[in-house]
Amino acid sequence: MKEVLTNPSAGYYMSKDVFGEKGDFITSPEISQMFGELIAIWLINEWTKCGKPTPFQIVELGPGRGTLMSDVLRVFSKFKMAESDFSVSLVEVSPYLSQIQEKCLCKTQNEKISELPIDSQHYKESKSLYGSPVRWYNHISDLPHTFTLFLAHEFFDALPIHKLVKVDQGWREVLIDLNREDSTLRYVLSRERTPAALYCRENEVRKDLEISPQSSVTIQVMASRIHQDGGIGLVIDYGHEGDKTDTFRGFKNHKLHDPLVEPGTADLTADVDFSALKWAATHPRSVEDWKANLTFGTVDQKDFLTRMGINMRLEKLLASCRNEKLANDLKSAHRMLTDPMEMGSKFKFLALYPAVMEKILLKYPPPGFS
Ligand code: SAH
Repeated sequence: MKEVLTNPSAGYYMSKDVFGEKGDFITSPEISQMFGELIAIWLINEWTKCGKPTPFQIVELGPGRGTLMSDVLRVFSKFKMAESDFSVSLVEVSPYLSQIQEKCLCKTQNEKISELPIDSQHYKESKSLYGSPVRWYNHISDLPHTFTLFLAHEFFDALPIHKLVKVDQGWREVLIDLNREDSTLRYVLSRERTPAALYCRENEVRKDLEISPQSSVTIQVMASRIHQDGGIGLVIDYGHEGDKTDTFRGFKNHKLHDPLVEPGTADLTADVDFSALKWAATHPRSVEDWKANLTFGTVDQKDFLTRMGINMRLEKLLASCRNEKLANDLKSAHRMLTDPMEMGSKFKFLALYPAVMEKILLKYPPPGFS
């Protein structure tokens, strides 16, 4: 999965724009500005609750075309957040997508990568349309230490998973093998236990599961930063609470695609196991690392967006609509985002806070979550 999606020369994400009607799949921020706007309001509200610490960074993991961040920054500017109050940090592995993000978010295209100091942790730097610095990083661990608002939308579902099956002898891993007779790829079961089995939790009742060590490690870095530097995390993705078994699949031209056929030409994805993310976020690898963080959710997208006022926002946008087509587009975008049969129930929201905020959150729980 890692090779197919992010191999530097042939990875699916590395050299093309895969989003939207002409691509392979469409995501919520691409459907309507309302999505990013409500997330921005949520972030401002929670940052205010923390006492408006500055300077802070807003981080997005896997920003795609940059649409979500662009909607967030527009709302930040309306709330008169000063450009010097915060910087924008994007964790993006694809150099091609980083260019698209730069076009979307920045005044200028800054290709002078060689001007960055040799020891800099980021690989690219520019300035947003509103004046804040924008920096691109390869990895979450490369981010600077400061108060951070983390956003991850449809990021964790792109991280590699391992498939495990429980047989009489214990856990075995589903591996991918080359069928020498016809040079096709096929699934095989490992003869012995593999290291991936270490990630199974003791109380696991499923006999067939998908685990993602890279997802667990990534959320642990996020959790430890939130504890050490202060911050809040918002993770949004399609997923489940540890009850699903077989969700690995490919998408090409908006249709399901066999992951073993023409790898690199289709998106590969698996539903996010939010129970595993929550477990990892609240269980430090060493006791000194961080005190158990707090998690809220998951809640369904329809509930989060409705509680955050999407119906009111729709009315406001409809009131200033110039023609019927735009009005109908807005209404259908609203339906796509909130209808349980579309994206309303499949997509979930999870929030992460540092343990020190327990008391204030009891009094002022995060909006959208209850
Ligand atoms: N958040 C966007 C795009 C989701 S697609 C949206 O919702 O529209 C996944 C994004 O994560 C892409 O930008 C992809 O290039 C990036 N990505 C995938 N694997 C990554 C990794 N291991 N590290 C950093 N970015 C990654």
